[in-house]
Amino acid sequence: MYPDVQLFIDGQWRASDDGRTIPVLNPATGETLGSVAHADVTDLDQALAAAERGFEIWRSTPAYDRYKIMQKAANLMRERADTIARILTQEQGKPLVEARTEVMSAADIIDWLAEEGRRTYGRLVPSRNPLVEQKVIKEPVGPVAAFTPWNFPINQVVRKLSSALAAGCSIIIKAPEETPASPAELIRAFADAGIPAGVIGLVYGVPAQISSYLIAHPIIKKVTFTGSTPVGKQLAALAGSHMKRATMELGGHAPALVFDDADIELAARVLAGAKFRNAGQVCVSPTRILVQRGVFEAFAEKFVGLTREIKVGNGLEQGTTMGPVANDRRIPALTALVKDAVHAGATLHAGGEAIEGPGYFFAPTVLSGLTTEMRIMNEEPFGPVALLVPFDTVEDAVKESNRVPFGLASYAFTTSMKTAQILSNRIEAGMLSINHLGIGLPEVPFGGIKDSGYGSEGGTEAIEAYLNTKLVTQFNL
Ligand code: NAD
Repeated sequence: MYPDVQLFIDGQWRASDDGRTIPVLNPATGETLGSVAHADVTDLDQALAAAERGFEIWRSTPAYDRYKIMQKAANLMRERADTIARILTQEQGKPLVEARTEVMSAADIIDWLAEEGRRTYGRLVPSRNPLVEQKVIKEPVGPVAAFTPWNFPINQVVRKLSSALAAGCSIIIKAPEETPASPAELIRAFADAGIPAGVIGLVYGVPAQISSYLIAHPIIKKVTFTGSTPVGKQLAALAGSHMKRATMELGGHAPALVFDDADIELAARVLAGAKFRNAGQVCVSPTRILVQRGVFEAFAEKFVGLTREIKVGNGLEQGTTMGPVANDRRIPALTALVKDAVHAGATLHAGGEAIEGPGYFFAPTVLSGLTTEMRIMNEEPFGPVALLVPFDTVEDAVKESNRVPFGLASYAFTTSMKTAQILSNRIEAGMLSINHLGIGLPEVPFGGIKDSGYGSEGGTEAIEAYLNTKLVTQFNL
């Protein structure tokens, strides 16, 4: 069963003010699953007023009590994991096992940030005068506006939500209209756990209308967005024009460097797994797989072999290892990028086109013979497409890694300490994972540099983004 999705405003689940809804489609079949409420300005004004009241309640709720409510929500997510995973797979397409992992990891993220919220310490700074006390205090920044995409409908929300709540902020979330029900289940877990009215708001509608209204509104003090770089730049500019703090988690074009001395079997297995997870619709997906010439052929053979083993199908069916892409826009976008490359001389080793039939399926694709002029070497494919590119020296690999304006995730496989050290120092990215897939745990920073945005959604940095720093200096008379 797929639920019709409502707005959550001031502690109530309800239809939009004018009753409008948006249809929700199943990407595996193209059929309508249900609908989601479409907020208008009246709804947004109510959500804003509630967030202002909610902030006053939540900021004065002791960190320990906030932690207890958050932990309860995490446990409800675990209890409901099977039901929520089915909803997620129906609306987004990913295989059920990936959907379940997303739900369980959301619980893990809530737990970690709930704990961390109890450690938002200030400090005492030794003063130059014995009669003066200098106190540094951390305070919640205020009501937050969050905008999240459809590729990880729960996890993109939970990082922002848990960080904001742990810091003592209220939050209005504009979750994705295409995958609305699974994030609504996340919010339901918090509602059922006893979060006070107004602390969390959930709305859907026209993204540009909601973001321009909320970001400019004086009640909102912090903006956080995950999505594409062009939209992120617009929202960051708007936030800047209103002097609002912002976290931007944007696109990537991750390089994965495989050196002659690497464990090729391990590299091929890890990178194929990471590439085709969620049909490649992952901002940290390895895309430019740069392989040192001595092992290029051997690596390519293994990687292409693993690609051909992928079983594409409806995520609800047992045995499916890759589902459809999440919406029909990805199909022409991916087709155009692959065609452009093949037309310019690239070699296709697997896939390369949409799979005929209902739903939005694109075959797992591997290309080689690429040049840096091709669109696909510069634009984020955001789909199941891997690019195999040979290189000669460490210097060449570093240069190609850093060539594009993105700087989110990067990967390397090498047994040389020296190479690993050079990469640690020279790769321009927010994250570098060497010889394994180590990105995305709640306790480590998660974020990019350059056109991939700024701010972090993991580790202690995640909470810092929702805190103001205040100095209180007192002369003791
Ligand atoms: P898009 O750029 O139109 O939208 C991306 C996301 O931003 C969507 O969730 C959308 O609802 C939201 N959005 C768009 N305009 C907005 C606005 N003015 N205000 C607030 N939110 C807005 O493209 P799309 O077709 O939905 O997705 C394709 C591209 O988006 C991909 O190529 C990829 O680069 C990027 N993307 C990135 C992530 C990520 O995890 N960083 C997730 C999803 C999509």
